[in-house]
Amino acid sequence: MHTSQVRHPEHQQLHALGSSPLPYRGRFAPSPSGPLHFGSLVAALASYLDAKANHGQWLVRMEDIDTPRVVPGAADAILTTLDAYGLHWDGQVVYQSQRHDLYQDVLDSLVKEQNVYACICTRKHIKARGGYYDNHCRAKNHHFDGNALRLKQRFPIFEFHDGLQGQVHIPNDIAREDYIVKRRDGLFAYQLVVVVDDHQQEITHIVRGADLLEPTARQLSLFKQLNYTAPHFTHVPLAVATPGFKLSKQNHAPAIDNSKPLPALVAALEFLGFTLPQAHFDDVETLLKWAISHYDVTRLPNNKEIQVVQKSTERYEFTPL
Ligand code: GLU
Ligand code: ZN
Repeated sequence: MHTSQVRHPEHQQLHALGSSPLPYRGRFAPSPSGPLHFGSLVAALASYLDAKANHGQWLVRMEDIDTPRVVPGAADAILTTLDAYGLHWDGQVVYQSQRHDLYQDVLDSLVKEQNVYACICTRKHIKARGGYYDNHCRAKNHHFDGNALRLKQRFPIFEFHDGLQGQVHIPNDIAREDYIVKRRDGLFAYQLVVVVDDHQQEITHIVRGADLLEPTARQLSLFKQLNYTAPHFTHVPLAVATPGFKLSKQNHAPAIDNSKPLPALVAALEFLGFTLPQAHFDDVETLLKWAISHYDVTRLPNNKEIQVVQKSTERYEFTPL
């Protein structure tokens, strides 16, 4: 597959001037480590509504690169659930597990430009040196084989603008960190593949959970390093079970119900700040249509977390944190 791409220079120019933006392309990028739960439904719904309210395309990408965390059958289960909830995607689903050549090409180019080095530090070493990686191995010339590979951070991002969170400030040590692009176990790191994919799929708008605010700074620095145009980012509140802990299998977030999607979809809209009319909706299609026409990104809650307590299949309680 090709990495050299795709955008016309004159498009880029117009984009920069804001007069004729690229056609909107959003995406939902679940990791198939389990079925969809309420938290991932919120992320899917927010990105879907933002795309559709902007007459854009909405793609789905399976982030199945982290093979030890992939659960067999989960990717199909996620797609079945999205369909049951009326969240129909555009185009073909992309699977990261089938794109190793693309990621390797980009990594090779970074290596060739001497922007990558091997690091032998263990978590224990890093902890003993103060808890964050201080670019310790940058000049050490360790062997690549069997070691983690880090990107030389040449474009640290200390702040960026988020569509909902406003100006986001990034701690110095995170902004300056030479983060890992290929893991010691040989797997490509999320930070690398997410940027390569968002560029290659021509994503213009990313809407996702606020747990990814700090990773966004790293991704923005890689967009710069690779000379890619960065998309626009919007981070919606993360659904948490308790402060700091996102809903997940570990804290027993149940899979959402495919046979009766309306209650969870209504709850996900309420989570996102919608006030629904008294009128009853017969199916997810009519509800989504209503939601698209009432979507206003400026009226979404801009907390970083909202605690979710599910009282019954129909009743959820939300506490902004
Ligand atoms: N796969 C990531 C997750 O499920 C999301 C990545 C992204 O939206 O950039 O947390
Ligand atoms: Zn090291």
